[in-house]
Amino acid sequence: MRKKIIRNTTCIVTAAILLIFFAVTVLMYIHTVDLLKTGTENEARSLKAAIDMEGLEFLEAGPVLQENRRITVVAEDGMVLYDSVADAVTMDNHKSRPEISEALFHESGSSMRTSDTLDERVYYYAVALKDGSILRVSSSMDSIFAMMLSMAPYMIILAVAIIVISILIIRYETRRMIQPINEINLDRPLEEPMYKEFMPLLNRIDRQNERIRVQMEELKVAEGMRREFSANVSHELKTPLMAISGYAEIISRNMVKKEDIPEFADRIYKEASRMTTLIEDIIKLSRLDEQSDMMPFEAVDLNRVTNEVVDALQVVARKRKITMTVDGDVPPIEGVRQVIYEMFYNLCDNAVKYNEDGGSVHILLEPSPKPEYVVRWSVWDTGIGVPEEEQERIFERFYRVDKSHSRETGGTGLGLAIVKHGATLHDALVTIDSKVGEGTCIMVEFPEKDNGQSA
Ligand code: ADP
Repeated sequence: MRKKIIRNTTCIVTAAILLIFFAVTVLMYIHTVDLLKTGTENEARSLKAAIDMEGLEFLEAGPVLQENRRITVVAEDGMVLYDSVADAVTMDNHKSRPEISEALFHESGSSMRTSDTLDERVYYYAVALKDGSILRVSSSMDSIFAMMLSMAPYMIILAVAIIVISILIIRYETRRMIQPINEINLDRPLEEPMYKEFMPLLNRIDRQNERIRVQMEELKVAEGMRREFSANVSHELKTPLMAISGYAEIISRNMVKKEDIPEFADRIYKEASRMTTLIEDIIKLSRLDEQSDMMPFEAVDLNRVTNEVVDALQVVARKRKITMTVDGDVPPIEGVRQVIYEMFYNLCDNAVKYNEDGGSVHILLEPSPKPEYVVRWSVWDTGIGVPEEEQERIFERFYRVDKSHSRETGGTGLGLAIVKHGATLHDALVTIDSKVGEGTCIMVEFPEKDNGQSA
């Protein structure tokens, strides 16, 4: 950038200097021509006065003339009577010369042209003498060109000196201007005062820094959560795996009576199933984490999904004499069917799992009373309830109020985390209302939107 600034300003300075020199030369030329003309005219007038008094003898005596001047006296009929440079006798008739003919009529006349005799640019000024003849004084212009030419070397030296000094000043100034730019602290761009022209850029850098800082923090939090999740997953997988290897070892050492082997096999089967469920839940969660952007939204009939969930859980519920009922009817919403199924399944599964034997589970589909939501889906159970201080936390991954009870019922601690994720995908609101020993109600409210993916 510095080089470019220096190069451009040097070009501009050089062009400006050349232009100024050209203008000065032209003005000087015009001025010198003016001076020459008035000088010639003044000389003609004073010579006229002398000749009028003393006659042509004054000229023949040889007056002191400037070297570029020439004097001619022409008779009224145009015959040359006297010339200070050429021989008057050999000169042709001068009556038709513009300045002479003008002076014959108007007392004086002038003309600028190339001289026939001397072949150079000449200014002629003619005045009528007392006796009717014409005195003509002429000055050669070539002296002006010669003068200008003699000045040229000085002008060139001056121009070069000005250009060199300008370049040095420009270099110094650009370095001085660029220095604060090089010293900008990009981490804190607004810290030091700066050229106001740079403020939009610095403000943008500052905003970007802030964005990067926030993203870094988010990444750190996400990284921490991921690490915690992996640790939890390993721990959760280790427990059933250790139980399985323990049972298997006892059997392999023949430490189990033959009639007890089916029971051991059943325990191994249950632990393996727990592992399978856990892995399935982890897969569901990671799919929601990574692929939720790509999941296609479609019209989902919530009544139908609810009935499918109830059908799937009916066998388990019946075993524990828990009645499951569904009430209400709502129009379809835009959503991802599979995800909504998982959400409803996990909520109803919990309502059965954490219920008392002989209890009930009631599912209600109705319009939402809140203006920003259209549908409210709620599941009510008459189970053990969730203590108030735990109600927020149960949506965290692997969080369980009563770890042993959850394990006994085959819980993974991931069910409600999946519900929360699914709700975020659908911009849905999940609320819980529960009393220990009385039961729990979990509500999911879906917003109105044409296409949930625009969220
Ligand atoms: P889990 O697989 O252990 O059921 P969830 O994420 O589904 O995991 O639930 C987290 C915890 O919240 C459960 O362990 C349980 O303690 C509590 N919980 C969830 N739903 C209910 C409910 N309907 N009644 C009582 N407690 C519940």
